[in-house]
Amino acid sequence: MSLPRSSRYVIIGAGIHGLSTAWNLARDLRSSGRGSGADVVVIDKAGVGAGASGIACGVIRNNYFQPAMRELMAHSVDVWESDPEAFSYHPVGYLQISHEAMHEDVASIHAQQRDIGYASTFVEGAEDSRRHMLGIFDDWQAQGITSVLQEHRGGYANNMASLKGLLGKAEAEGVSVVGGVTVLGFERDAAGAVTGVVTDQGTVGCDQVVVAVGPWVQQIWAMLDLPVTTDVLGTDGQVHRRPTWTYMCLQEGTLEVDPGYLTDNAGNMPPVVHIDTDAPLYDADGLVTEGPWGVYYKPDFNFGGVQGGYMPYVVDKPGEEVAVDPYGPESPDFVVGEDFYRTWSAALAHCQKRFEGKGHLMSREPSGGIGSFSPDNFPMFDMFCDNVYFIADSNHGYKMIGVGALVARELLGEPQGLLAPFCWSRYATGDLHPVSNSPYPWS
Ligand SMILES: Cc1cc2nc3c(=O)[nH]c(=O)nc-3n(C[C@H](O)[C@H](O)[C@H](O)COP(=O)(O)OP(=O)(O)OC[C@H]3O[C@@H](n4cnc5c(N)ncnc54)[C@H](O)[C@@H]3O)c2cc1C
Repeated sequence: MSLPRSSRYVIIGAGIHGLSTAWNLARDLRSSGRGSGADVVVIDKAGVGAGASGIACGVIRNNYFQPAMRELMAHSVDVWESDPEAFSYHPVGYLQISHEAMHEDVASIHAQQRDIGYASTFVEGAEDSRRHMLGIFDDWQAQGITSVLQEHRGGYANNMASLKGLLGKAEAEGVSVVGGVTVLGFERDAAGAVTGVVTDQGTVGCDQVVVAVGPWVQQIWAMLDLPVTTDVLGTDGQVHRRPTWTYMCLQEGTLEVDPGYLTDNAGNMPPVVHIDTDAPLYDADGLVTEGPWGVYYKPDFNFGGVQGGYMPYVVDKPGEEVAVDPYGPESPDFVVGEDFYRTWSAALAHCQKRFEGKGHLMSREPSGGIGSFSPDNFPMFDMFCDNVYFIADSNHGYKMIGVGALVARELLGEPQGLLAPFCWSRYATGDLHPVSNSPYPWS
């Protein structure tokens, strides 16, 4: 596929958001009689799934403390459920297993899930939680748990397979997806709007740009001279100046057992397990961490074992220069270290007896990756420079397959209520998302 000299819509990035936006935009253009997929080109410096979407663990959940996140996720789960085969979606459900410090937060999540009709069960109290988990896994033994939220929708999807499904849908609408094209800058008119996307293969004239470059967002942001720092009006009434983009390393890995090793008591694929607890964590060599700690895991034939992750760590300290290219040669050292292997495998054994003594089966294949985070660690979806729409999901986003459909409608002039809480102006007005007691920055 060659690069056109111009296209009404140029989408940068062939990950989950770029492809989903392209597919939905093409479909909406056609169905409204305002154009077709021939008006849309997706360009990527490498190819489909070269970024975070291609390595994502693939967990799909609604479990968010922030009401706006939950509503957005419920919309995305509808999209996953609309074509499970094409998206390689496994609707096994999701478990949020928590210690007491999170009890109230998770109770409010459950209440609000009920309000929006998102099916889930909430179990409270140490004994009932233990009994509930033993009903799923007869070797459950985690300590310090006082609530379990079981979401009956969601689960996980296989990263590259779902992107191929999206690619197929976009191409069927006539969208061109061109790999091996790196965006280097922009041509702009006197008012600042983009008139051309400058690439290493030439310039593509355009009416509208969509930026969906995942952890590379800071690079494109800088090309448009957008602000390096952002003033955030905090809940304390003070203005806090923050770096606009920071990085965290997502630590993930795979225990090399047969994925069938983690079936539930009935022999079926279980829900994705996510546990947060303050119980001290031990292995055969002694104390691993005093906690609180949190891990997630699932059996996964795609990864070839029981796969999951641990809490991320900050790669750049606020105020310092952030990396030029998060996945490039100048990237920070984000290799998952021995600490991760030890902690994660000890955590699995803490939860389920079947994992005791299995730490030596941890795969040493490179795993995990970098995420780019916004000033409040939540997504930012908004238009800049008059015609450049940023889909910057702050690393929440493989599960957010539905955002592309909403962005497509905004591009065609229909503002979307589900996206409004993620606008850029929230930092200045202090309309921030509430923060939970989870050890994860994104829950
Ligand atoms: C290890 C890991 C595990 C994760 N697990 C989950 C999970 O379980 N569930 C979940 O919901 N989310 C998860 N995430 C987060 C999720 O993967 C990302 O939020 C999401 O995939 C971002 O999608 P995207 O389409 O914005 O960007 P990406 O998928 O990163 O795609 C961006 C594309 O832009 C291209 N690009 C970049 N710069 C340029 C340029 N200058 N010119 C042209 N092309 C360019 C890249 O080549 C890339 O293909 C995980 C992330 C990581 C790192």
